[in-house]
This record gives sequence, C-alpha cells and structure tokens, in this order.
Amino acid sequence: MAVKKRYGFVIDVSRCIDCRACLVACRVENNVPLGYSRIWVKDLGVQGTYPDLQHGFVPHNCMHCQHPPCVEVCPSGATWKDPAHGLVLVDTAACIGCRQCILACPYDARFTNPETHVVDKCNGCIQRVEIGLQPACVATCIGGSRLFGDFNDPASDVSVALRGARSLQRLDFTQGEIDTQPNIFYINGDVQDKSIAPHAPQYTAAESFWRKFAIPAVLTGIGAAAIGQAAAFTKQLLDGEKEFEE
Ligand code: SF4
Repeated sequence: MAVKKRYGFVIDVSRCIDCRACLVACRVENNVPLGYSRIWVKDLGVQGTYPDLQHGFVPHNCMHCQHPPCVEVCPSGATWKDPAHGLVLVDTAACIGCRQCILACPYDARFTNPETHVVDKCNGCIQRVEIGLQPACVATCIGGSRLFGDFNDPASDVSVALRGARSLQRLDFTQGEIDTQPNIFYINGDVQDKSIAPHAPQYTAAESFWRKFAIPAVLTGIGAAAIGQAAAFTKQLLDGEKEFEE
C-alpha cells in the first residue's frame, strides 16, 4: 500500500542570505498584490559574541500545521488540511472573508487579499507540485535554504536534509488542547528568538462564546441524554425481569 504523503518544508537557516528572491518568485507565481506577501524573511540581527558572530535570517511561510487552529475556526469549510498531502489550503470561492482564520493563526501566515477580498496564504504552490515542480520560493532560493518535499519519503530533499542536520528546531505552539505541530523544520541555526515566537490564537466574540459556552453546553446535553437513556433502558430491563419472575 502506498504511504500517505506529508508535504512540508525544511529551512536551512545557515544558508539564507536575505536576498528575498523567494518573495518575488512567490508573488509572481501566485498573483500576490504589491505590498502583501505569502512568505517572508525575519531578520534576527547579529547573533553571538565577537569574533564568533553571525547574522540570522529566518524564512517563513504558512507552517501547514498538523493541527491547524485556522481550519478549526473556519465557519464555511473554505480552509482545510488536504488529506492527500497535508497542505493547508483555501477555497477562495467558499471563503466568506470573516477573518476568523487570520486571528486564529499563531504565525500570522494569513491576510485578506485586497483584490479578491478573501483570505490568502501560502498553498505550498500545489499547482506546481502537482506537475512535478518545486514551489516557486524553493526553486528560486539561490542559497538552497528553502527545501520542500514529502516527510514520509526517506529519499525526499526534506528527509535527507533532516537526517544530515546539525541542529533541528520547530516553532511549535502548545497551550492547553492546542498543539500546532508545524510542518516547517528549521535546521542548522537557532530560531528560538522571541521576535518570531508564535502567539496564542485570537478568537472573535462569536467564536469565544461558541468555545466557552455553546460547545460545553452541547456536550453536557449529549452526556445527560445518554445517561437518561441508559437509566431508562436499565429500568426497563429490571421491570421486565420482575414481570417475568411474577
Ligand atoms: Fe493555519 Fe497558520 Fe498553521 Fe498555516 S501556520 S496551517 S495558516 S494555523
């Protein structure tokens, strides 16, 4: 049986030179309006102590999380994690522009496209991947910092890079029930900088009400109904036994 795909990115932090060719390639490939970007590079400044100094740059895009908070809050089903390969996608025809997913994303990976008026974000260039090409940012990365592939394929670029990594970090966000488990792995450099740390998902008033009151109320109702049914069923059984003995 074929192993399911799990697409994601590996970023070799030691190889990014902040040339931003990836940003240009992504904008052209995906018709992203000027002033907006699906991907970005964070400048961590000079790190270390003289003479052991290094300028840190951290390429970013949607983490294509294993457990994406953005998908959980979407009321129209316009955003989903594709079971065929694990990329988190947006159906622009189904998006109602409510912005709940933008607020819920701990990585600020989403924005409202001013031309389409619906949500936009990295789609892993699935339109290219499906015809055997690399995402535009990966194909254009002159330093070889951005890598893409199937983590479930041991021969893929990302699996090979992970095996050879000197260090490995993820910008995982965990809090209570939430554990995003991002599908971007950062190798060969330190990305534990508070300027790029993920933040807690934000929820609209309606979503907060739904989470705090409506969901517990529905679950309590279902639990009470199940207990009631079980009690009635037990009583019926006992009554039946009594009648049989008489
Ligand atoms: Fe969703 Fe944000 Fe995770 Fe991407 S990074 S899957 S937009 S929560």
